Amino acid sequence: MMRGRFAPTPSGLMHVGNARTALLAWLQTRSAGGTFLMRTEDVDTSRSRAELAEQALADLRWLGLDWDEGPDVGGPYGPYTQSERLDRYEEALAALERAGRLYSCFCSRADLAAVASAPHGLGSEGAAYPGTCRALTPAERAERRLRKEPSLRFAVGAAPVRFDDAVAGPQAFPPGAGGDFIVKRADGMISYQLAVVVDDAAMGITDVLRGADLLDSAPRQLRLYEALGLRPPRFAHVPLLFGSDGKRLAKRHGGISLAALRDAGAAPEQVVGWLAHVSGLADTDEPVPARELIPRFHIGRVPAENVVVTDELLRRLLRE
Ligand code: GLU
Repeated sequence: MMRGRFAPTPSGLMHVGNARTALLAWLQTRSAGGTFLMRTEDVDTSRSRAELAEQALADLRWLGLDWDEGPDVGGPYGPYTQSERLDRYEEALAALERAGRLYSCFCSRADLAAVASAPHGLGSEGAAYPGTCRALTPAERAERRLRKEPSLRFAVGAAPVRFDDAVAGPQAFPPGAGGDFIVKRADGMISYQLAVVVDDAAMGITDVLRGADLLDSAPRQLRLYEALGLRPPRFAHVPLLFGSDGKRLAKRHGGISLAALRDAGAAPEQVVGWLAHVSGLADTDEPVPARELIPRFHIGRVPAENVVVTDELLRRLLRE
């Protein structure tokens, strides 16, 4: 049985871009008769706020989505809030340590900035780490530790990564692509990459549908699944919404948070109809309740190209 999820980071208001990803993930799972869950991804406590996590759930409920498990409704794989799952991430780190896949890294921001201009690497986490600290001797590590708390890096190994993305198509990443990445920061923060793998596996997620900005995280996560002996999910990375200026749709493009749309008098069916239209699921942007899209959904209908929200389309959303 399919198990899908939506996993927002509560660092801002839910806007139409996030809502679209949530809607598509929900439709994918509901159209397969599966179980859908919500998870709050707040490992980065400096960016996350509890009231925004609550607001995200309220906004998505307003839109017409529902979930079988989640921070507010509980479920057999809880807790569904990452800041309450730190012991699980520590267990995974211990397993990676036993497997010889972790090393301490003492590089400073300035050291890393020096390699950031190199033309390699995978976008979302900056330049590939060149492996500077991988070869330190135990004595060198001990000496450095006296002066600086290290971060922990995962040694990605030499194997290439291939997978078939349900929207983006076949993917092939060369050996070492992206470089060894941080799984725990020097200040103790667990990385998104580790937390998401531990949680998706522990929560039995079979299908991950999320924004294409995370496509280059998938090979990192697949390497973690492999190193931890866990079964990976199928991935579907959906293209993002862009403004007519070519930038990712964001606050500066106008009142596009769900909260602002609701306050301006928009009905959820209107927002859903618009989202379905810009996502290739409906020919027009006529209002439609989310549940009526369930029988119409097919992952093959989600276009693999980025969606440009023209000013005209934006005006239709805002009913201007
Ligand atoms: N928490 C991530 C975000 O809000 C999503 C993680 C995921 O879907 O894998 O961007």
